Amino acid sequence: MGVTAIVGANWGDEGKGKITDYLAEQSDIVVRFQGGNNAGHTIINDYGKFALHLLPSGVFYSHITNILGPGVALNIPFFLEELSNLVARGVPAPSIRISNRAQVILPYHISLDEYEEERLADQQFGSTKCGIAPFYSDKYLKVGIQVADLFNEKYLRNRLEKSLVIKNILFEHLYNKPKISIDELLPVLLKDGERIKPYVCDTVSLLQNALKENKKILLEGQLGTLRDPDHGIYPYSTSSSPLAGFGSIGAGVPPYSITRIIAVVKAYSSCVGAGPFVSEIFDESANELRERGGSSGEYGATTGRPRRVGWFDVVATRYGCLMQGATEIALSLLDVLSYLDEIPICMSYDINGSITGDFPLSVQLDKAKPVLKKMPGWKTDISGVRSFEELPKNAKTYVENIEKLIEIPVKWISVGPKRNAMIKR
Ligand code: GDP
Ligand code: MG
Repeated sequence: MGVTAIVGANWGDEGKGKITDYLAEQSDIVVRFQGGNNAGHTIINDYGKFALHLLPSGVFYSHITNILGPGVALNIPFFLEELSNLVARGVPAPSIRISNRAQVILPYHISLDEYEEERLADQQFGSTKCGIAPFYSDKYLKVGIQVADLFNEKYLRNRLEKSLVIKNILFEHLYNKPKISIDELLPVLLKDGERIKPYVCDTVSLLQNALKENKKILLEGQLGTLRDPDHGIYPYSTSSSPLAGFGSIGAGVPPYSITRIIAVVKAYSSCVGAGPFVSEIFDESANELRERGGSSGEYGATTGRPRRVGWFDVVATRYGCLMQGATEIALSLLDVLSYLDEIPICMSYDINGSITGDFPLSVQLDKAKPVLKKMPGWKTDISGVRSFEELPKNAKTYVENIEKLIEIPVKWISVGPKRNAMIKR
């Protein structure tokens, strides 16, 4: 059967949650493979409207096994609360498995994130302050804590002691904040371990067996290509790779098992937080697009911050899809553009008078100006349309134009936030 990855081709918030929820019906397993509760995936279905942060978007189906893979940043109290809120709203308790190799966001990761943004003041990166960057820094510094460590007090104490030496120097002398006491922290973590124990297992074996049994597996990415630490707009990137290629590592499946890569592409652009954003628009036209965008305006599902918005960016999206290795595109939020007489799209970048279609390095990106072309609008409500043929001519042309420019087939077109507002081609 193979594995399907659903990933973002832009800056995140492309509607991955909706597409994953839609495709999950036909699947057996949904895996989150990177990031943590800094994600915000909005899903609207028969149970209501939800913004999932850490839970995989398969949690609304009782036939699905939802996995938090080894690559995920696990905030345990957050996980438990998100799960109980879901059940409190009438969703049947989902089946969830947490990798025993996943690492844990510790309380001091969150403090470090907050203190560092405070220290940076107006130089901030726009962190969601969930502790994600300090968490992944510790992982690669080799002072992180794996889920399995929570079940061995002696080992855990030893690991924490190593980490806290440096942390406490930072807390005391850089940030002027209280130090962390291991004797206070250890019991909290042991208790967290007990609370998640029923969910913990060797998810890698589970997935290997599922592959043997030809089960349908979805990998759900967080954010999008342009936030990738290697291939994105570094340093305005996130701390784990949102690329399908990393899905193999973060979930623990063979690279060759990922045979289908659905890049979710937004019909316009949005970007939350700081960083270069070439096709950004401002003032009244931006306010209008922001208010009409998403399911109730473009506001961060995690932070509530107003999202920056802009026109469709061919340069960024072509690059975004290429780096994902997209085999098909799910074009989302097309319905949002229905109010426009003309729809500008950014065809290329002008960098000091030289025109390029290649996505620039960070050092040049600030200088890039969008080269726009106007497409005719369709001025018709398309949210009820369920087949490509039924779309107004200009909407079809808009989609076909994107397909031609990106050179990847648009297989899905999302025309509304609800589960069934989808056109399959
Ligand atoms: P994700 O992080 O990629 O899952 O995306 P978000 O959920 O953060 O942001 C996407 C926003 O668009 C949410 O408000 C969704 O409810 C909404 N949405 C998703 N698909 C569509 C669509 O086709 N049309 C409209 N109007 N809204 C959509
Ligand atoms: Mg989001």
